[in-house]
Amino acid sequence: MADIDATFDEFLPEALRFRAPAPLVDIGANLTHDSFGRDLEAVLRRARAANVATLIVTGTDRAHAEQAVELAQRYPGLHATAGVHPHDASRWDTSLAAAMRELHQRPEVVAVGECGLDFNRNFSTPAEQERAFEAQLGLAAESGKPLFLHERDAGPRMREMLRTWRDDIADAVVHCFTADRDTLYGYLDLDLHIGLTGWICDERRGHHLRELVGAIPLERLMVETDCPYLLPRDLPARLKGRRNEPALLPWIVREIAHWRDTDEAELACATSDTARRFFRLPQAGEDQENGRAQQEP
Ligand SMILES: [Zn+2]
Repeated sequence: MADIDATFDEFLPEALRFRAPAPLVDIGANLTHDSFGRDLEAVLRRARAANVATLIVTGTDRAHAEQAVELAQRYPGLHATAGVHPHDASRWDTSLAAAMRELHQRPEVVAVGECGLDFNRNFSTPAEQERAFEAQLGLAAESGKPLFLHERDAGPRMREMLRTWRDDIADAVVHCFTADRDTLYGYLDLDLHIGLTGWICDERRGHHLRELVGAIPLERLMVETDCPYLLPRDLPARLKGRRNEPALLPWIVREIAHWRDTDEAELACATSDTARRFFRLPQAGEDQENGRAQQEP
């Protein structure tokens, strides 16, 4: 494993060099995205300097899931998910299913997904999306690993499908939750977890979320950047490139704490405890220790 030290470089303006009050888990980091191809180690160093200790690297199709596994093998504190995003659902077939089943056996893979339904853009048809999602619900039941779910404009159908499978699958998190109160309560009724991103920092479209975040039980809530997407819009300084990265997660936690009217440190600790339990990760500190242990001759 490559050792990663905790240092801020010149890339982030001083006003964006946050330090979380407790080690955070970013449950949605798309680090296999091309935009991280040139400076990933610097991104990881900054994450560590910001006290974002653990990263779940999202695997949205076969190639990206395999890359996510490689990153998890290489860097301490990184873990992977493996799934087929609803945008790519049209490619689902038996060989892809077999590849996914194999990936889910890997110890680096801590969740099945990203998978789900996205009726907002319909890059794959709704029928194709449902077929791929149904198959991945089956794979999640088979592997016993938790689900990392994506849903846009498909809440009612998503709930219907999850209800059928609920007794057979382990935990599931709806990542980047942005929907309304009814949808939220529907998910909580199904005993799901909720992932919140910097969407809440968006004064144009995050308003309804600000009123809703208090309704999410603390032990159901996890946090994520969904980087490189969703750069928080209300950062205290401009960032060249406009690429979101894990080091900015403390800002999102601060914002959620504000709208929940809770203490930032308490929220930070709770979301990390929840994430470690949900993804069955080593307890706080163990990740880094394992990394160091493997450096010993
Ligand atoms: Zn997503």
